Amino acid sequence: MKPIKTIFNKVINRKRLDTDDGLALLKQADLLTMGELANTVRKRLHPKRIVTFVVDRNINYTNVCVNKCAFCAFYREANSPEAYILSKDEIFRKIEATIDQGGTQILMQGGVHPDLELDYFEDLFSSIKSRFSIQIHSLSPAEITFLSQKADITVIDTLKRLNKAGLDSIPGGGAEILVDRVRKKVSPNKIRWRQWADVMKAAHTLGMPSTATMMFGSVETEKEIISHMVRLREIQDDTGGFTAFIPWTYQPGNTKLGGRSATAVEYLKVLALSRIMLDNFDNIQASWVTQGAKIAQVALEFGANDFGSTMIEENVVAAAGVTFRMTQQEIVNLIQDAGYHAAQRDTTYNILRKFSTKA
Ligand code: SF4
Repeated sequence: MKPIKTIFNKVINRKRLDTDDGLALLKQADLLTMGELANTVRKRLHPKRIVTFVVDRNINYTNVCVNKCAFCAFYREANSPEAYILSKDEIFRKIEATIDQGGTQILMQGGVHPDLELDYFEDLFSSIKSRFSIQIHSLSPAEITFLSQKADITVIDTLKRLNKAGLDSIPGGGAEILVDRVRKKVSPNKIRWRQWADVMKAAHTLGMPSTATMMFGSVETEKEIISHMVRLREIQDDTGGFTAFIPWTYQPGNTKLGGRSATAVEYLKVLALSRIMLDNFDNIQASWVTQGAKIAQVALEFGANDFGSTMIEENVVAAAGVTFRMTQQEIVNLIQDAGYHAAQRDTTYNILRKFSTKA
C-alpha cells in the first residue's frame, strides 16, 4: 500500500488520485485527516462558504415495482393491498402545494410499474408543464431503461420524447454501487452498471443534466466504493453533465437484505473521500435524510457544500423506518450555526435567494 504522505501531497498539489490512492486513504487515514483533506478541496471550489439547498418534493407516483431490490423497503407487489398509483389530480395537488412553499423542483420516481409506459409519462409531463412552472427532475435510469425496452426504441430516443414532453433533468437514483458483483446481490433484476451509465451519458448528450448517487454500507467492499467513484469521474470527464454527487447509506429496516447501517464515521470518511476523488464534480451533497440533521451539519466539514433538498415529502427512506424531517428554516439555521452562508438554489445550482446571517 502506498505511503499515506505521498497521497496527501498529491491532494495538496491538485493531482488526481487513482484507485490505489483512494483505497490507501480509506484504509489508513483517520477521520479528522480525511476531513481536513476534503475541506482543503472544498474551499478551493467554494471559497465563499456558501452552502446551498433546493426546495422540492419527492413524488413517488407508484410503489409497484418489477425490480424487487433486496435493499428496498418501499416497493409493493402489484396485487398488494398497499399498492398504489397516484392519480394525475393527486400529483397536481402535490405540485401546487410545493410551489406554494417556494418549491422549484419535483422529483418523481417509482417503482418500475409494469403497466406504465412511455405515453403515460409523456402525457403526465406535458400536463404538468401546461399547468405549472416547475423543474421536472424525474425518472431514474432504471425507469428510463424500462420505458425504452417497453417501447422497443433506444434510450436516447426515449429521452428525446420525455424531454420534449417536459422532463428537464434526471436524478441519479438507482446507482447503488456501480459494480455488477454488488448489483447482482442487492438488486439482481435491475439494470447493470453500464446501462445506468448509458442513460446518464445519453441524457448529458441531449443537454439534460443529472445528479449521481451512491448507496453504500450494504455488501460492497471498500475497493468497490472507489471503483464507483472512478466510473463516475470517467463519465464526468466525457460529458460534464453531472451537477452533484450524493452519497447516502443503506438503511436496512424492513428490507429482505437486512444487516446493519453504516456508522457516522464510515459515512463521513466516504463522503470526504468522494470530495477528494471526484475532482471534476463541483457539488457534493450531505444526506440529512439518512444521517439526521447533526451529522449532516458535520458533513459540511467533510467536503459537502450542499444540503440537498427540503424534501417536503419523502417516502422511500421513510419506508425503512428512518424519518428525519426538516423545515426550510431548520436547514437554514443548521447551515448558519455551522458557520456557513445559507442559500436556496435551483436544480442546476443557480442561487435564487441568500439568507441573511444571524447577528
Ligand atoms: S429500489 Fe427502486 S427499483 Fe429497486 S425495488 Fe425499490 S423502487 Fe424498485
